[in-house]
Amino acid sequence: MKLYAPSTIKEIKEKYGFKISKSLGQNFLTDKNIIDKIIDAMELTERDLVIEIGPGLGVLTAEAAPQAGKVLAIEIDKNLIPILKENLKEFDNIEIINQDFVKTNLINLLEQNDIIRGQKREKVKIMGNLPYYITTPIIMKILEDRIPADSITIMMQKEVADRIKAAPGSRTYGALSVAVQYYCTVKDVAKVPREVFYPQPKVDSTVLRLDVRKERPVELTNENVFFACVKSGFGQRRKTLGNSLAGVCGLSKEEAQAALAEAGIDPVRRAETLSLSEFAEIANAVAAKCEKR
Ligand code: SAM
Repeated sequence: MKLYAPSTIKEIKEKYGFKISKSLGQNFLTDKNIIDKIIDAMELTERDLVIEIGPGLGVLTAEAAPQAGKVLAIEIDKNLIPILKENLKEFDNIEIINQDFVKTNLINLLEQNDIIRGQKREKVKIMGNLPYYITTPIIMKILEDRIPADSITIMMQKEVADRIKAAPGSRTYGALSVAVQYYCTVKDVAKVPREVFYPQPKVDSTVLRLDVRKERPVELTNENVFFACVKSGFGQRRKTLGNSLAGVCGLSKEEAQAALAEAGIDPVRRAETLSLSEFAEIANAVAAKCEKR
């Protein structure tokens, strides 16, 4: 059965009386080429554990399972669970979990799946065609909670992918770019036009593969201060750094200016011009001042 065919989706809707939920971001993929590109980009092996966010009808799940050790498919919509069980019944290495991914205890799940197919698990690879409204919280949950994932291959709204990939100086460069690029290297996998979904969304998509860095790209004395500086800098984009950094851990404007001078950064610059390493220099100078308070 071609799970991705629009005719199959219509049959499933009728057979199960299933109603597609707009509020859960249900836009199902109907293009086998895109499905193949996503699965190929993951470079799966039999010792990999795949965690899928929002399997929907199981189109990606069914392609990943034959290549992976095991797939944990986490779907929030209870109405999709009997459909997924039926669609994926030929596979014995898929566990369907009816949960909200954002609330799932991933560390517990990983502990329970340390051994797969009788062997020690090698890599943890996260994948998903994400509902647009929770893309950023989902990515940040995985990264900030330090979930020991090796890669995250996900489809998202094109504009969010553009922000993640953005380089300093570009209009789309912001706190999300800095945060994701701090934790990961970012690779483009595919551009996905809106026409390949059922129902058709109002936006185009992009698939990115984020490879979680084994080592941080910059040395930080205090990661929390780094993220506070990034947040503060981009939260007040129009302000110069001398002004926008005042307030981080209660620093005065003068102290913020002094920290910038110590980091060798001109206080009239704005956050969107700073590279990751310049942010790190600033954060370390600010952290030294915060410690003395
Ligand atoms: N993977 C399928 C595909 O590509 O056709 C479905 C993609 S659809 C864009 C997003 C899926 O995520 C839906 O099945 C939706 O019910 C599910 N979903 C939405 N929010 C979720 C959450 N918080 N946790 C887990 N699944 C969620």
